[in-house]
Amino acid sequence: MIYLDYSATTPVDKSVLEVFNKVTNEYIGNPNALYALGSKSAEVINQSTKLISDFFHVTKEEIIYTSGATESNNLAIFGVVNFYAKRPKKIITTTLEHASIKEPLAYLEKHGYEILYVDLNKDGTVNLLHLEQLLNQGVCLVTICAVDSEMGIRQPIERIGEIVKKFKTTIFHSDITQALGKININLENVDLASFSGHKIYGLKGIGGLVKKANISLLPIIMGGKSTTIYRSGTPPVALIASLAKVIKMINIDEKKIDKLNAIIKNKIKKYENVIINSTEKSIPQILNFSIYSIKPETIVHMFELEKIYLSSKTACSSKDIISHAVFSLYNDKERASSTIRISLSNITTNEEIEKFLEVFDKIYNKLLFKIK
Ligand code: PMP
Repeated sequence: MIYLDYSATTPVDKSVLEVFNKVTNEYIGNPNALYALGSKSAEVINQSTKLISDFFHVTKEEIIYTSGATESNNLAIFGVVNFYAKRPKKIITTTLEHASIKEPLAYLEKHGYEILYVDLNKDGTVNLLHLEQLLNQGVCLVTICAVDSEMGIRQPIERIGEIVKKFKTTIFHSDITQALGKININLENVDLASFSGHKIYGLKGIGGLVKKANISLLPIIMGGKSTTIYRSGTPPVALIASLAKVIKMINIDEKKIDKLNAIIKNKIKKYENVIINSTEKSIPQILNFSIYSIKPETIVHMFELEKIYLSSKTACSSKDIISHAVFSLYNDKERASSTIRISLSNITTNEEIEKFLEVFDKIYNKLLFKIK
């Protein structure tokens, strides 16, 4: 099998699973219980949170555990608009956001909020001048991903944060799910940041929201003491320990992946019907391209027959007919309805890429022959 869909999810690292099993077996107490068995579990959480908060250069109190980035994004958006309900009912975002941003915003749009889309430059990065113009209208929240899941475009979140900071009543949230573990992230100017464990070799079902101390939120899940007041429920001690373990393991090495990405890109762009959608600002782990005249589902399934796994659009919205992200950048419906995403990792090998290219050639010629 050749797995080229690491942005959808990653395999769980063995040592992470070992931590999960060990903590599950050895720390059975509810961390909020008053007896020593509970305190023992609470200490695991304390140490894990210390590690995670140190990684992000924030305090332990600034980490909220959630079930993953979908929940973190929902909590950030609804938490802010509900707590700061008296602030202007305007939110700035981009056309590149994940469904777990898009759909809460679509809901809010139906309930009196105005959603403002910031213009993108040719390379897909946010147009900072336009951002500032929109901010001048009076806005309660800006939500812009650090890296989008489709084209992998890296946004200048430090610079965006600096600009948003000039507007005292505007909060900046960034979905850093696709950036974590792949590029260095500086949260100095970010008020809220969502992330997930299963994109970085961790377990599904655990993620977090970094929430700076000066920001308030109205929780969306209420009831009972947890690790914070912002998300109730008995803390999942073993999942939290496993999240700390994956964060500890983060080792950013873009060079190797850069090379693999260049090998694929240089080869496939020579095919007549292929056009690359990722831009020079895309991270090397994500390569998005379109093949004109061929349905992306057909390609995905033909690769599957060869035990090669890649994605048409993102896994969370693969049933959408067109990629709104690609359409917003290139204004070409056919291109936006035939996107394929390959996502690479530190564990992708040269041999896997060679095999992928060999199969690509076979499938491309077979499918194009059919329509000629
Ligand atoms: N945001 C982005 C950018 C993502 O890629 C994903 C996962 N596809 C999510 C949010 C949702 O993450 P989770 O699966 O942890 O809910």
